[in-house]
Amino acid sequence: MTTARALKAPQWPQRTSDAGIGCYVHLPFCHRICPYCDFSVVVYDERRSVRYLSALLHEIGRMPAPATLQTLYFGGGTPSLLPVSHIDRLAAALRSRPAEEAERSFRDHPGAIEFTMEANPARDASDLSAWLQARVNRLSIGVQSFDDRELHALGRDHTAEQALKFYEAARAVGFDNISLDLIAGSPGQTIESFKRSVTTAVACGADHVSVYGLAIEDNTPYAAWHGRDPRAFPDDDAVAAALEIADDILTDAGFIHYELSNFARPGFECAHNIGYWRQRDCIAYGLSASGYRAGLRYRNLRSFDAYCNAVEREQEPREEEERLGFAARVGEAAMLALRLREGIEYADFRRRFAIDPERAFARAVKKCLAADLLEVDGESVRLSKRGRLLANSVCAEFLAPDLSS
Ligand code: SF4
Repeated sequence: MTTARALKAPQWPQRTSDAGIGCYVHLPFCHRICPYCDFSVVVYDERRSVRYLSALLHEIGRMPAPATLQTLYFGGGTPSLLPVSHIDRLAAALRSRPAEEAERSFRDHPGAIEFTMEANPARDASDLSAWLQARVNRLSIGVQSFDDRELHALGRDHTAEQALKFYEAARAVGFDNISLDLIAGSPGQTIESFKRSVTTAVACGADHVSVYGLAIEDNTPYAAWHGRDPRAFPDDDAVAAALEIADDILTDAGFIHYELSNFARPGFECAHNIGYWRQRDCIAYGLSASGYRAGLRYRNLRSFDAYCNAVEREQEPREEEERLGFAARVGEAAMLALRLREGIEYADFRRRFAIDPERAFARAVKKCLAADLLEVDGESVRLSKRGRLLANSVCAEFLAPDLSS
């Protein structure tokens, strides 16, 4: 197990700017569908993947990625399931549009763009070098747990040992920025088994760890199981305790708890996701992908056939579009900023929106402070420890700022 490495932090968050743009590409294929999953996913088959690649390339051609691309994120689904030739063609299409500037940026500064790909540790490690060649420079590995019983209950198709081997193989070929995903609250999980997963992630030298509380989503096999036998699942208090334990272990090990669910060694924060929480523009391609461009939020069609049919007919594959008015943009920016460790930084809101944030959010701050959900000083407002456990309700209070003069 890797325990000590010379850290070469990429520091992308410091190098990106509010004017830079992120790009998300959704690759929806999985070998099988996990019983808790409600993402837009389909079971992999080659014919479907060829059709999808062609549709994606078509969508990219119709709406090119801008030259100011700063982050690229291949999410899913299981992007690592796709043949390397598909990953290569997509990356090439994105970096060659508009031709010169983006290509120059990729070629002359291969590390200048944070390029993340999600990977399943069940994947044969033989493609890792090829992903590096395609300029992927950050891997996000869906480990979920280092406990085989939990992995079995989650319906995962890998073991803890496979996950460690995959991680080591990624290090060996040269990936120097690796994130591991862990789940708190899986059936059968105990505080001890969860602790072991977190300490294993630390001990193996991960640069970034995401810890998600398991959500029971409607219309999934887990929803039916939970309905029949709720006691098979850790309750909310146990999940909250697990998240606190993750916080303690990871921060003691030097990780920064920079976002509600995310921890990073200094400099390894995910620039792509920070861009999302800072409401930077993000162009999105593929089935169900959500993007934001100049105040317009949109989401693509969620059905595989509907998405491919629309693109093949030269139609916009959109399911939803909403142009945010000024107040909605400010409210959404506040809601997103609260997820970050820095919270709502008053100076930043004055600069970006020319408003007085203390006034605009006075009602929400007063109400949440009274419930011990926030911390404030003269420069910012952030979630308190208790507020982090009730983040969704706190954030909702900030959606309607008072912008009357
Ligand atoms: S691997 Fe991830 S995306 Fe695929 S089915 Fe499982 S949870 Fe969903």
